[in-house]
Amino acid sequence: MSARRQRVCVLGSTGSIGTNTLDVLARHPERYEVLALSAMSRVDALLAQCLQWQPRFAVMPDTAAAAQLRAALREQGSRTEVLDGAAALSEVAAHPDVDVVMAAIVGAAGLAPCLAAARAGKRLLLANKEAIVLGGALFINAVKQGGADLLPIDSEHSAIFQCLPEDRSSWAQRIDHIVLTASGGPFRQRDPASLAEVTPEQACAHPNWVMGRKISVDSATMMNKALEVIEARWLFDLQPAQIKVIIHPQSIIHSMVVCRDNSVLAQLGTPDMRVPIAYGLSFPERIESGASRLDLLSSSAGLSFEEADERRFPGLYLSWQALRGAEGSTAVLNAANEEAVEAFLNRRLRFDQIHQINASTLAQLTPAADEAASVDGLLNLDGRARRHARQLIAAAAA
Ligand code: NAD
Ligand code: MG
Repeated sequence: MSARRQRVCVLGSTGSIGTNTLDVLARHPERYEVLALSAMSRVDALLAQCLQWQPRFAVMPDTAAAAQLRAALREQGSRTEVLDGAAALSEVAAHPDVDVVMAAIVGAAGLAPCLAAARAGKRLLLANKEAIVLGGALFINAVKQGGADLLPIDSEHSAIFQCLPEDRSSWAQRIDHIVLTASGGPFRQRDPASLAEVTPEQACAHPNWVMGRKISVDSATMMNKALEVIEARWLFDLQPAQIKVIIHPQSIIHSMVVCRDNSVLAQLGTPDMRVPIAYGLSFPERIESGASRLDLLSSSAGLSFEEADERRFPGLYLSWQALRGAEGSTAVLNAANEEAVEAFLNRRLRFDQIHQINASTLAQLTPAADEAASVDGLLNLDGRARRHARQLIAAAAA
């Protein structure tokens, strides 16, 4: 353990991953201090966090929200400096005094700060899967060039990472394929014909995990697993055919590596995001996470496995389609899905139409030859795909 405390920047600190991160950090005040916190809109929640943690910086992309926070902090005599504008997220992520960046923003908005942290060579804890799905090769190159330490926080990817040796150069030689486990979400056993009536509240009620609304809807459509397939392709440098998905309703095995010799390595635990968060923070050491210990004898449900049925979960299969398509196709899929999920949460789109929007956008919009080669190109492609998806959503709602 280093003598000096590690200085942590938590992007998206008011969200589900953000608050779980602060919960782990609070258990280890001798190891970590919080240098920066950030949130989109919940001024009260960020204010309370700032008063508790006294970070040097608090960031709110929205100027009006930032002004509110600034005034409230001043009233309390706090010395936290409030920064506003989206660029400030990248600024704190790359700040010379920051050692660790927790990327827990939801959606493509997290790409720029992730790239900034990567280029600045930080320890980058990646929960924000949309950022790596959008950024792809560019993201990985930024990590390599910046000498950053990229550690997965998604529980499946953390599980794979925990099953692999520290020396990354041996990974390709030892992995035959990986198996990502999926709980199947709240509609695993529901009649697919009745999915048209699903409400946002029903879609957000996940059986095993409490999460933000976007990822909850993604779990219900299995688009979350689709994004995770793409995320795994980049994190572990795998071919699409080396990534498999199996349904495991109890969420106890968090994923598996199948080695060349057919030895299968798995990571198990209770479903609690504080385990991957603690591992990302302390790697290669292990620290207390706050999660309860798995008791296999008292877990009455046992461990069971099912095939991920393409008719029930068609969204999952878009991931391999996008990975095999033109470079940038995964960015198109992600953009369409972000728009479709938002429209569903705002009751402008039916649950079963999310897949139609995603599949149609992916089929109809082809990335230009060099669009995925630069950040500007990718953001342009992301914007084009969103506009295309929005037109399809408007037509579907009409
Ligand atoms: P959440 O909605 O609970 O929190 C999102 C956070 O990001 C909030 O602090 C919000 O203020 C901030 N934010 C939202 N939009 C922003 C924007 N445009 N600019 C800046 N900040 C913004 O979401 P979550 O469940 O914590 O998920 C965060 C990320 O982690 C997602 O990418 C999700 O897929 C991933 N993840 C979450 C879990 C989980 O258990 N919640 C598990 C694995 C991966
Ligand atoms: Mg996951």
